[in-house]
Amino acid sequence: MNYNANKKGYYGEFGGSFVPEMLYPNVEELQNKYLKIMNEESFKKEFQSLLKDYVGRPSPLYFAKRLSKKYNTKIYLKREDLNHTGAHKINNTIGQILMAKRLGKKRIIAETGAGQHGVATATVCALTGIECTVYMGEIDIARQAPNVARMKMLGAKVVPAMSGSKTLKDATNEAIRAWINNPVDTYYIIGSVVGFHPYPDMVARFQSVISEEMKWQLKEHENNENPDYIIACVGGGSNASGAFYHYLNDSEVKLIAVEAAGKGIDSGQSAATTILGKEGIIHGSKTMLMQTDDGQIIEPYSISAGLDYPGVGPQHAHLFKTKRVKYLNATDDEAMKAGLELCKLEGIIPAIESSHALAVLNKIKFKKEDIVVINLSGRGDKDLDTYINYFNF
Ligand SMILES: *Cc1c(COP(=O)(O)O)cnc(C)c1O
Repeated sequence: MNYNANKKGYYGEFGGSFVPEMLYPNVEELQNKYLKIMNEESFKKEFQSLLKDYVGRPSPLYFAKRLSKKYNTKIYLKREDLNHTGAHKINNTIGQILMAKRLGKKRIIAETGAGQHGVATATVCALTGIECTVYMGEIDIARQAPNVARMKMLGAKVVPAMSGSKTLKDATNEAIRAWINNPVDTYYIIGSVVGFHPYPDMVARFQSVISEEMKWQLKEHENNENPDYIIACVGGGSNASGAFYHYLNDSEVKLIAVEAAGKGIDSGQSAATTILGKEGIIHGSKTMLMQTDDGQIIEPYSISAGLDYPGVGPQHAHLFKTKRVKYLNATDDEAMKAGLELCKLEGIIPAIESSHALAVLNKIKFKKEDIVVINLSGRGDKDLDTYINYFNF
């Protein structure tokens, strides 16, 4: 079974590139050049060097002793929370800014929901001295004020998206519109394994450094590259794709993806795309998404802003359909409880997105000798207000 994209960007029946005609030349340029550029020695060298000295990689693989004892198995945490800017997203934006430079682009645009991808993009634009515009829903601008301030401090222009529900999908539409108006000198940095070909494949490759490191780190710790389980949360799916990438063909490694069930699968307020979604096209890609019977996108909900995307990337739709990856879900309450448990047991405050991955530990029957890796996608600093309001600290 092939779990990666073919030349046209298809994962089985999912993926592809459904873009407006005005964007064909720009998208084709990227499709034709991305693999060649990524394979150039000079590109690899610059990418590796920034991952090491700027992001702080390799991120540690930490044996969580007290958490392991609680669940009676061996649990490791892949510490993406320790990266510069606090999550895995920087791995991808570093890769894409180098891609933009190689393609001779002069301006960067990006969309953001909670602002995490916007901050990661503004960061790499400051790093390379390239002009940056971030599109963000008007409602998100109001509720994510600290990230808006961060982007501005980093020199980015934040443009409100005023249409529709004034959230992430509207910001994405604005970004695509801006790209159509400026196709030649502008590069669009997408923040997850979503959108049209080649973005899902390119972003997965940039994030694959996560599982590449896991292999040698597990060899060091356990004298075995392969764990029994890898668990990661899924919004669009990029940290999960990166954590699974080098294990997709190791069928003995069980891969678990965790979606946000919000207030409950049947509550009408969730983001559990694989359970509730149907095939459709979103942001230029055929995938699974939450939609009404007449094809309107359903507004997703999760307490964690990074998981409330109404779709998943096309690779995840394929991994779901082929059953290579098992998709579980966790509610707001389950995630908050699991996040607080990690604080108390290990002294690590996780991002609420990552807490969803922790929340399935009590839903799986592990053996004592099992090796379980949880991809800790980000740290909880950005979520302090949400934790405070939820627990009344
Ligand atoms: C954005 C984000 C996610 C969700 O995005 P994916 O593309 O699904 O990885 C998860 N965790 C953190 C910390 C994030 O910032």
